[in-house]
Amino acid sequence: MKVPTQSYISGKWFDSELATTFPVINPASGDIIAEVADCGAKLTSFAIEGAADAFPAWKQKTAKERGEILLKIKEVLLKNADHVAEIMTKECGKPLKESRVEVAFSASFFDWFSAEGRRAYGETIPPTGPGKAMITIRKPVGVAAFITPWNFPLGMLARKVSASLAAGCTCVIKPAEDTPLTALAFAQICHDAGVPAGVVNVVPCSRKKVVDVGDMLCSHRKVACLSFTGSTAVGKSLYAKCSSTMKRVHMELGGNAPFIVFNDADIDLAVSGLIASKYRNSGQTCITANKILVQSQIYDKFMDKLLQAVTKLKVGPGLEPDTDVAAIINDAQIERIERIVTESIEQGATLLHGGVRVSTLGPRFFQPTILTNVKPNVAAYEEEIFGPVAAICKFESEDDAIKFANDTDKGLAAYAYTNNLRLSWKLADSLEFGMVGINEPIVSTCEAPFGGIKNSGFGKEGSKHGLDEYTYLKYVAYGNQIPS
Ligand code: ADP
Repeated sequence: MKVPTQSYISGKWFDSELATTFPVINPASGDIIAEVADCGAKLTSFAIEGAADAFPAWKQKTAKERGEILLKIKEVLLKNADHVAEIMTKECGKPLKESRVEVAFSASFFDWFSAEGRRAYGETIPPTGPGKAMITIRKPVGVAAFITPWNFPLGMLARKVSASLAAGCTCVIKPAEDTPLTALAFAQICHDAGVPAGVVNVVPCSRKKVVDVGDMLCSHRKVACLSFTGSTAVGKSLYAKCSSTMKRVHMELGGNAPFIVFNDADIDLAVSGLIASKYRNSGQTCITANKILVQSQIYDKFMDKLLQAVTKLKVGPGLEPDTDVAAIINDAQIERIERIVTESIEQGATLLHGGVRVSTLGPRFFQPTILTNVKPNVAAYEEEIFGPVAAICKFESEDDAIKFANDTDKGLAAYAYTNNLRLSWKLADSLEFGMVGINEPIVSTCEAPFGGIKNSGFGKEGSKHGLDEYTYLKYVAYGNQIPS
């Protein structure tokens, strides 16, 4: 399978309006790996029209027929897993072993929604009088627009496309400017899987065109809903823009996840959980542990084990098989990580490990880092670090830890390690986040509802709830029927 570089609209490949392109850079080497069509508002509008034209026939298919096509997408995706994983690692940097997991994760959503689409049930409501019948049915909303991020170039897109297609919607995807190739490879996979023309469309664009393309997606009257995964600031602006056409909006925004380790926790389990949560994708995940709180009695032991585990992490290019922590996506992001580390140290945090770039590997590699003595209001806790930096503080009482964990305007994910049944329920109940992992760092799976609250957004991806974003509930009232 070759790697396409043009936009994919109504089943065909197109250059951008003026045949302009933008470069895609390998973050590990700094090399340009491809030039991709730099689409603007006009081509985006063309893609929306294509999706709108494809909608009537797609929604009229039975859920089973759509499910069969979803299964075909899964099959072609898995057949090309190695190829797609390599593209992903080349453009977003992440270790190849993680890219492979992401392909399998993405395929699982097509599997899940191929079946879940057949369970988009309505309901019957007990009638309010003789000769009446009252029912609800679920209908697809129409064209769905997707704006997706670079940190999971396939996973975030797959979660949205699988649910929307199962519901009977068609879609237009705008991938992140750093990682358009994975999305275009996905378009080719949809094409090869026999997805009808216009059902899935992809319009890549550079940073320069992002506002034009975003505005078109948010304001076009034929777009029924926008699903966005990205930063809170951009999410808020898109949410406001969607109000002019009263679109359905789904927002999966940034997090600031607490990771709390209590005195009675299994320390080895907590350390391995933290490594998985914090250093996966070099810390560039929205659900990564950001505020790490460790209770005083086990603090020293925990820190010893954590330091040992972090020193074992291998930093290197994502394509090397034993790499654990790979290149950071771009210059802006690595500069941001450096700034947060520097500011946090100036504000009183202690640097226990790392803290600088690994310049022998190239300009975008950052050492796995541990900061201790981090206090509230320090940059590493106030901001989403989005890098391989564990910021840790000691706490005494469980109520203090819960209060501090909740003291954020974000509400995506939270984690806690304890073997105390009473405490584990108290945490599940009182942590104000959309997802809580107890003795479990990996919460995202197709079977469960992924999503946040507060400034982390609203709406769910995956599970039976994932279909809700793409359907509306129609109420039908029958009167004057023959009473039984
Ligand atoms: P990050 O800071 O992680 O790159 P962003 O929120 O900037 O997160 O980007 C997430 C997605 O939103 C990307 O696809 C990006 O191109 C897109 N994006 C960024 N700014 C805008 C905008 N003003 N309008 C529409 N899309 C945007």
